[in-house]
Order: sequence, then C-alpha cells, then structure tokens
Amino acid sequence: MPASKEPADIPLAPGDWDYIEEGTENVIISYHGSEPDLQGWVLRLTKCDASAEIDLESHEALLFRDKELQRKQDALEFAARVIGPIVGDKYVLPQRLAKTSAEFLIQVRENIESQRPRNRLSKSIDARQSASLLTKEMISRTPADSTQGAHAVTVELKPKCMALPRSKFLAPESSVKHRVCWYCRHQYTLHKDGNVSQFCPLELFSGDRKRIATALEHFAQSPHNNFVVFVDGRSVVDEEGKLSDKCVPHWSELRDAVAGIVQKESLFSRLQLIQRELDSFNIESVLPMYQHALETGALATEEPRIDAWLNAYSEFRRRLDSGSSDLSAVSDCQAVLELMLATTLRDVSALIKFDSWPARGATGTGTLEHSSYSIGIVDHDPKKVSNIPKYYRLDQNIVATYLQHNPDKAYQRPCRE
Ligand SMILES: [Zn+2]
Repeated sequence: MPASKEPADIPLAPGDWDYIEEGTENVIISYHGSEPDLQGWVLRLTKCDASAEIDLESHEALLFRDKELQRKQDALEFAARVIGPIVGDKYVLPQRLAKTSAEFLIQVRENIESQRPRNRLSKSIDARQSASLLTKEMISRTPADSTQGAHAVTVELKPKCMALPRSKFLAPESSVKHRVCWYCRHQYTLHKDGNVSQFCPLELFSGDRKRIATALEHFAQSPHNNFVVFVDGRSVVDEEGKLSDKCVPHWSELRDAVAGIVQKESLFSRLQLIQRELDSFNIESVLPMYQHALETGALATEEPRIDAWLNAYSEFRRRLDSGSSDLSAVSDCQAVLELMLATTLRDVSALIKFDSWPARGATGTGTLEHSSYSIGIVDHDPKKVSNIPKYYRLDQNIVATYLQHNPDKAYQRPCRE
C-alpha cells in the first residue's frame, strides 16, 4: 500500500544526523538519535545552487515550496505504483515524507559541510523544502551484530545500462549501438586517453554466475561512482582507487557473495527485460516525436504529473502483455514517456546491505557466501522530460567519440547479453 502522501510532523534535531553520501540532486543523512520512529531511516535532502541568494519569505520561495512538495508526493506514488510493479514491490525501499523546517535544514547544512566532497560544493541543501523523503537505511555506520569487531558493509551497483537497444529506428551510422552497449561506448567520452574500463554491465545481467563474478572484478578495477563499497558507513577504495583486499575485509568473498545475489534475485532480470522493452523507440526517434508533441501542444512544457506516468505505464503494460510489437499506433507522448521510464530505470542503483560482515582476521568465515543481507533500489525518481534534447546530444556525442576511437568494425569489442 502506498505510504501517506501527507508529510509527518516528527521533531527533528540537526545534531542527530550524520552525513552519508550525495548525488547530483540529493544529500543523504542518517539518523543516530534515540527517537524510535526515526531509527534505521535516512533523510534525502534536495540540493540547490550554493551561490543562489534565496529569500525564504519571498513569493517565489513559497511557490517553489508548494511545487517541490507536490513533486516529492508524486515521487512517492511513482515508486509505489510504477517502479514497484516493474521491479517487484519488495525491491522498493519503504519511504515516507517528513516535515523539514528551514532552521533544521540550515543547521544540518552547516554541520555536514566539512565532510562533503569538494567537487560537490557548488550545490548545497535547499532550505526552501518544507518536506523531505525518509527512506529505509541501507548504508549503516554500525553492524547489526558487532561481535568480533564485525563491520556494516553495503555494496552499491549503478550499472547504467541493462540491454542492447533492439530499436528498428536507429540511423545506419548508429548501428554500433546494436553491438556495443551504452556503458562501453561511453567510456571513450569519459576517458579521452583510451584508458577504458574492462567492465561491461551486460555481463552483470547475464544470469551466469561466473560471468557476473568476472564482471564485478572488472568493475572493482575502475569503480568510479558506479560500484561503491561502504564499510561502516564510509565508501572505501585502496591507494590505486580500486576495490581490493586492502580496503575491504574479505574482498573476494564479498565479490562472490554479491555475484550470487545478483544471479539469484529477480530484480536484475526484471530491470533488464522492462528497460529493453521501454527503449523500443530509442532517443533517436523520440527526439522528433518530442519536438512534434511540444509543437502540437500534446505535451505540456511543465513536467508530467503522476497521472500521466500512470497512464503511460498502463498503456505500455497492455501492449507488452498482448505480445504486440506493433509500434505504429503509439502516440508521440507515449513514446516520450516510455523513453523517460527506460532512462529512469537505467539510472537506478541497487543497494545490497550485509547485516554483519566479519572483521579482517576473524575466524569461522567459511560461510560468507550465505551471509544475511537486504536489497533494494534507490534513485528511481522520474527523469525530466525536458532533458530529452540534452540526452540526444549526449547520445550522439557518445556514438561519434566511440567511432573516432574504434572506426574499424572488425576491432570493435561487441557486448554480449
Ligand atoms: Zn558493454
């Protein structure tokens, strides 16, 4: 059942919250106070431009506050009614809204500033939000059972790509997309020196235990922000920026345990299946449909509300369940929203939390493969439709840069599903 959309009035003390991590849009803080209602939860606080001078009492700030609340209420419903049915309800972490005052937000902002990474400081916590999302905690500072100096370990996987596009609408010069996945092509845009990762996310979705374990080892060699291991609440890497035994206790056992979980949990195969089907049109044919829908007024310039997403998802589901591959009757708006759902799924992170992970040198660790864990996904808010032109430019740039480095088809390394 979806959580209540009305923000709960829970007393929040700034000193009870610790910095955990942040992405482009949100800062995550975790609770260590004594309020039972908050234990085991994290707060996701939205960010804004740090240099913006905001008058909290202005008319604009009030309007923004209402809109932001509506967006978060929609996100809550989106998670329960769109993401839940796609991946399975058990993989959507419990969420609820709590009221957050400007005083609380400003104080938290000050408290955590020194712990934030330098490259994230151009944005800071937005003091205008009147409510923030509380989510079940998956990255913990303390293990459930701390005997023998055990650790709290969480693995975050952000594969960014789940399938090769099967779209019939790709331009001939983009045919490489059918052979080399988005992630592997994108490496050449990210690493201009050609020092690209050996990791291919499709291996992670192969369902084959050995291929998954090899993929995780490749991933560990160049993890960046796509593969993070948190030990007692802090992300760790060794001095070469890799994941290894030097920074993670029992690293190879952890890698193998994660490989077993990825193979066993239906989350990954469901994500792959639906992401592939939702990407039927691909960004190349959606861009003109997006422009046409805006011109005719079929698509508003405002971002879609929850009803539009729910309708788009039911229509997609009906088509999928009927087994029809006829896309001729699909409207411009529908194609736009399906692509954005595919893009949203591509960007989710899977979090695997081990309740208690043994310390280095601990004895009796032979059964680590069957350690108890919980799993869920985060970062599943719907992507902004207005970003379609930006996504298109990025897509074209990635293809062009890849082909510059790999002009000869015979030498392109194909990705395997
Ligand atoms: Zn690949």
